[in-house]
Amino acid sequence: AMRLKLILGDQLNHQHSWFARPSADELFVMMEVRQETDYVLHHAQKIIAIFAAMRDFARRLRQAGHRVHYLAIDDADNRQSITANLDYLLAHHAATELRWQAPDEWRLDRQLADYAAALPIAAAMDDTEHFYTARDEAAHIFEGRDHWLMEHFYRRMRSKHGVLVSDTGKPAGGQWNFDHDNREAWQGIPWEPADLRGRHDHSVLWQTIQASGAKSFGEPNAGDFAWPLNHEEALEQLERFVELALPHFGRFQDAMSVKAWRLFHSLLSFAMNVKLLSPRTVIDRVQNAWRDGAVPVASAEGYIRQILGWREYVRGVYWHRMPGYDKLNAFGHDTPLPWWFWDGKTRMRCVAAAIGQSLEHAHSHHINRLMVIGNFALLAGLSPEELHRWYLGIYIDAFEWVELPNTLGMSQFADGGLLATKPYVSSAAYIDRMSDYCKGCHYDKKARLGERACPYNALYWDFFDRNRDKLAGNQRLGMVYQQLRRMDDGALAALRERAADLRARVAEL
Ligand code: FAD
Repeated sequence: AMRLKLILGDQLNHQHSWFARPSADELFVMMEVRQETDYVLHHAQKIIAIFAAMRDFARRLRQAGHRVHYLAIDDADNRQSITANLDYLLAHHAATELRWQAPDEWRLDRQLADYAAALPIAAAMDDTEHFYTARDEAAHIFEGRDHWLMEHFYRRMRSKHGVLVSDTGKPAGGQWNFDHDNREAWQGIPWEPADLRGRHDHSVLWQTIQASGAKSFGEPNAGDFAWPLNHEEALEQLERFVELALPHFGRFQDAMSVKAWRLFHSLLSFAMNVKLLSPRTVIDRVQNAWRDGAVPVASAEGYIRQILGWREYVRGVYWHRMPGYDKLNAFGHDTPLPWWFWDGKTRMRCVAAAIGQSLEHAHSHHINRLMVIGNFALLAGLSPEELHRWYLGIYIDAFEWVELPNTLGMSQFADGGLLATKPYVSSAAYIDRMSDYCKGCHYDKKARLGERACPYNALYWDFFDRNRDKLAGNQRLGMVYQQLRRMDDGALAALRERAADLRARVAEL
């Protein structure tokens, strides 16, 4: 009897029970396939990172005595699709059973379930042993509700898993949420921690990827590759983060700067999403740092909320709403993405900075993704589906289960407000308050009208004006609509005209 066990590229969890002890009847299979490089146009660093991490993982499995059949992208036997390769591997090894771990993406979940259902041999799916929650846990918590309040879910998770709670169930520091302490702009003090990530040369792998014909964009940085690609490197990054950045994480969580692309963020999303690092390891470490008095409770709580709260919560949204969630478009926005999404060349300094660093590092922190890029896209009426495909391709941490609810739900309000209680949009004032982007920008942050007026300003008012039917009843937007009502007809007409002009020439901004 021979059992084949499939490990996908984002399932690199060496602590999984599958790897407890080597067995002569088991063969682990891993594959680099064009199916996965090509489902969307990816950033070069994302492809390099996944393949390099997979290769490292396979090496370690072999070292630990496991049998592994690894199909590299340029392997002559590689059929370049997961199921065609499984056909080949099952036959080649005369396998009597197939097992796989629950895919996090709906696309792969379906593909493997359909494939397995048609197999003449035994086939079954195992858990990934990674997340705190089951796929449908959030759906149970929110049973029957139209709005899924993240905070509600998050408190349940804190209590259920005993994170930052006392023995009597009270929240650490006397409060469940320290979000209002996380709103400071950053003036350069303290400076962002140095980028101490280890560097590796992956130029040979990069040449192989290119030779395979897989298309990509962005800076490959293959010769000086900086992302942690195995468990030890991820742990080192976690330690550096806890020591150097976490103490300031809370305060500057929403800050942005042209001078600092990382600020006090952890850069752990890739490692966690491909499961090199367990969210429990990260949360335990951060909780201990707070217990030891090394970090303020606001920082520890703010950080843990992102992982125990947001990360698990968006996964629940994804599984509840797929298939079909990727097609939602509540505002009917359909403007194609302007070309500068692929080269960063726009005169809006904030957008140029956020997209520029995304192209350079395959990463940009949350507020750049949400309040610069996503904000502009929503105000300008860009197609949410195209935008989703862009986010899915460019970020090294982008896997559909986490990217899609963030893009379509949180950032574009394209689901009509399941996740977000109001659209995350702003005029230039917010961006100016939280960043140094506006200084030296071609556009005038104060002006609403005229050629040099910051596009966000007219677009902001126009967005609320043209979506009165959908948004005016929202209590959290009372102030905005009050201001709109006070605006005289002439001023409103001028804003509409300016916004229509901007929307017609997004490519030239
Ligand atoms: P930190 O700021 O150090 O946060 C720590 C961790 O918390 C992250 O590693 C991540 O695992 C988790 N986290 C934080 N915010 C979120 C969130 N909103 N949803 C889920 N988890 C969160 N995150 C992804 O992992 N993959 C994506 O494809 C992705 N796409 C996004 C698209 C948009 C439009 C927006 C607004 C956000 C997106 N995020 C995504 C969430 C967030 O921006 C990234 O997780 C974060 O920037 C990763 O960098 P970091 O590890 O330094 O994060």
